[in-house]
Amino acid sequence: MTRDITTRILHADRLGAVEHGAILKPLHIATAYGYATAEELTAVFQGQQSGHVYGRQGNPTTQALEAKISLMEDAVGTVCFATGMAAICSTMMALLKSGDHVVASRFLFGNTASWMGTLSQLGCEVTLVDATEAVNVEQALRPETRMVFVETVANPRTQVADLEGIGQLCQQRGLLYIVDSTMSTPALFQPKAVGASLVLHSLSKSICGHGNALGGSISDTGLYDWDKYPNLMPAYRKGPPTAWGLLQIRKKGLRDMGATLSAEHGHRIAAGAETLPLRMERACANARALAEWLEAQPLVSKVHYPGLTSHPQHARAKALFKDAGALLSFETVEGVDPFEVLNALDLVIKSSHLGDNRTLAIPVARTIFWEMGAEQRESMDIADSLIRVSVGIEAQQDLLDDFAQAFATLNGSRNQSGMTGTK
Ligand SMILES: *Cc1c(COP(=O)(O)O)cnc(C)c1O
Repeated sequence: MTRDITTRILHADRLGAVEHGAILKPLHIATAYGYATAEELTAVFQGQQSGHVYGRQGNPTTQALEAKISLMEDAVGTVCFATGMAAICSTMMALLKSGDHVVASRFLFGNTASWMGTLSQLGCEVTLVDATEAVNVEQALRPETRMVFVETVANPRTQVADLEGIGQLCQQRGLLYIVDSTMSTPALFQPKAVGASLVLHSLSKSICGHGNALGGSISDTGLYDWDKYPNLMPAYRKGPPTAWGLLQIRKKGLRDMGATLSAEHGHRIAAGAETLPLRMERACANARALAEWLEAQPLVSKVHYPGLTSHPQHARAKALFKDAGALLSFETVEGVDPFEVLNALDLVIKSSHLGDNRTLAIPVARTIFWEMGAEQRESMDIADSLIRVSVGIEAQQDLLDDFAQAFATLNGSRNQSGMTGTK
């Protein structure tokens, strides 16, 4: 019998060793771990005995968080990192060699898109495709393609990748399929259901939820046959093959690159995770109400939210996800500067974060996606007026009231100057 996700998260720590009867995993802040004999220390070093040696490879607190995320994703294992970007970079650096080819969605979080550029300067080739159709991924494949990387719901334009189609394609071709599920969270979707090999999360976002810790994770669903992966080192081909990939990621990625999640941050993320499904329920309901409200505004030209029937991948989102998520974006009509909208908002915070309990909004073209230039922004369908809204858990009416007063201010100044919005 599989228990409900909240039940599983709440009782996860008690599945491990309970210390002093504590009902959740305590903070372990030691840098190093000592053993009674040299034999024992050596056995832990060589992986023959479980245990910790030095905090860069993790500690009991982050290990408990890893177990919790594995439960949430129905994964065979998880490795945590200091940030989501650290999880992405360390995983790819640990698994790729120069000359390898990566196919990635061209609708990516800005810093991930920037990282793909760095990767191509390090001797790997990256092809960016419209991942809303699996055929585009298929056409980009080459003999040296090692992995396919997509986001479930792309940040900020909310395109929903052809998750199932790409999963089938990767399975047929024996390709590693990495899914960044930060936007969906385990409360709405498990990428294992569409054949993902590795599931990535920025834990800094909804899983933590309280905006008080940074973290990232990579989980292995157990579906990929690591025996087929050409870049695995002999040292990590030990024990059951399902563990080989994460072992190389932990050693080559976490240990050697050192972007370790601290115990304190791991602890806060674990506490935040306890209420993830509850918070997502409320945030998704708020996002849906706000998206519908915005769609009716004359000064808004487009609203991007997978929960709207007008969204190109609405049917796919409905079929795959428990709910449509807490992120939406919208464009203003010509002549309405998105800064005007943002500055008229009072409750909503102008901030670059997302997946927070508080509602946050940002003009993406002039901030997160500024550095890449107009051409790449256009290829990602990011309009100059695009405003991203990460919807929080405020009372729905307070949120709608804030947008209503902001648009009333805008409409008022337009009526005075004789301007009216046209769609
Ligand atoms: C924020 C984010 C990341 C990066 O995570 P950090 O914890 O901020 O480094 C990666 N992917 C997506 C989809 C994100 O939204």
